[in-house]
Amino acid sequence: MNHEILLTLLLQSPLLTIGLGGGFLTLGYIATQWWVVGARYRFESQRNRLELDALSKKIEILNLKAQAAPEVAWNGCRKFTVSKKVEECEDTYSYYLTPHNGKPLPKFKPGQYLTFEVKFPNEPKPQVRCYSLSDGSISDDHYRVTIKRYTRADGQPGAVSNYFADHVKEGDILDVKAPSGKFFLDVEVERPVVLISGGIGITPMLAMARVLTHIQDRREIYFFFGCRNNMDHMFRDEVIELQKKNPNLRLHICYSRPLDEDLLGVSYNHHSRVTVELMKSVLPSSNYEYYLCGPGPFMDSLVNGLYEWGVPKKDVKFEAFGPATVSTKPKEPELPSNTPSQATVEIEFARSGKKVFWDPAVANLLDFAEANGITSIDAGCRSGSCGSCVVAIKEGSVEYVGEPGNEPEEGSCLTCICRPKGKMVIDA
Ligand SMILES: Cc1cc2nc3c(=O)[nH]c(=O)nc-3n(C[C@H](O)[C@H](O)[C@H](O)COP(=O)(O)OP(=O)(O)OC[C@H]3O[C@@H](n4cnc5c(N)ncnc54)[C@H](O)[C@@H]3O)c2cc1C
Repeated sequence: MNHEILLTLLLQSPLLTIGLGGGFLTLGYIATQWWVVGARYRFESQRNRLELDALSKKIEILNLKAQAAPEVAWNGCRKFTVSKKVEECEDTYSYYLTPHNGKPLPKFKPGQYLTFEVKFPNEPKPQVRCYSLSDGSISDDHYRVTIKRYTRADGQPGAVSNYFADHVKEGDILDVKAPSGKFFLDVEVERPVVLISGGIGITPMLAMARVLTHIQDRREIYFFFGCRNNMDHMFRDEVIELQKKNPNLRLHICYSRPLDEDLLGVSYNHHSRVTVELMKSVLPSSNYEYYLCGPGPFMDSLVNGLYEWGVPKKDVKFEAFGPATVSTKPKEPELPSNTPSQATVEIEFARSGKKVFWDPAVANLLDFAEANGITSIDAGCRSGSCGSCVVAIKEGSVEYVGEPGNEPEEGSCLTCICRPKGKMVIDA
């Protein structure tokens, strides 16, 4: 039937016209209702999905916040398999550690470290070293640490860091103590932060930046990182990825000795070291919480520079990776005025049957014991973190010259970071 015949029929038959018109209207109405119901259904399921996402994010944040209680996640050592080894830059490798028993891992606070007991062939005692967790507590099936080859002052290679670089490979099993340490970012305190690191000191800062980004925390984060040039610029891509995900993360990469191929504004932001002067020129004010980790002189100048700028001591938190950095810590507190003259203080090593007078020039009880031939005290990190050097106090008390990673039990002391307050008898 062509259009003309149809038009004639419609004009001649009003009933047919009404019927057809009504039919079209009904169909249109049904189609509209169908579309409205469909759209509402799509809207509802999207809203449910978003609500579910928000809920699981909230649960995750609550989980992270629940880490506030610094309970030990397991006692002694747990077996971990090296599931992946990745070169981050020259002489620096990340180790992904999966629990050997396959059970989920407890959360940790960003900034905390693991303690490793490394057994060398033909050595009776394991070497104990601490390594910061570099990835933040985001996954419960693995941890990650990142270790740079260390060279001693006499040019000799450091024992454990070089052992890791040269010998530890994927599939190896390691003995690891639970995450611990008091240097961490509290995600519940919603203050803007400045994360400052040099070289391998980036490891705890990276964990902090990763966690804040993961939980979509809105605080301002200034991230300063210093190294020589692209050769030792570790985690470059990872940090850039974080910045893409987190609009509040402001990155300031400082190269002290850029190479010809390093482009200012592309691979790095400042041709300088990380300094307080740089911070003054970048930060809108000094009113931030500061977290620092890096080599001794770096920490010394920055920590003291921040104090001089007027930043309260409670807002400056820093981690020492060894005794050299601890010694840069501003001297506080002073010995109490009623402390007897240190040169006449007698220290008795009860188990060794030795009594000697304390030498005030010595930095700590561990060094003093070693200088006097006492071999029964173990040494590990020498910065109060690993707990190897703990001894029982039989008489007397100590004052701490560094911050213990974990408080020793009552009646004991961490000899590597304490000095006697007076006459002492210790179980060594
Ligand atoms: C809390 C914490 C977190 C750390 N995180 C990391 C990290 O993420 N990545 C990383 O690469 N390193 C990290 N370190 C440093 C690491 O633990 C080792 O100190 C480093 O790898 C060197 O160990 P080594 O066995 O290779 O060197 P070695 O020279 O064989 O041993 C160094 C050990 O001797 C001590 N020591 C060094 N010089 C002296 C000295 N002059 N007098 C007395 N004792 C000395 C050090 O404290 C250290 O315990 C961290 C240290 C601490 C305390």
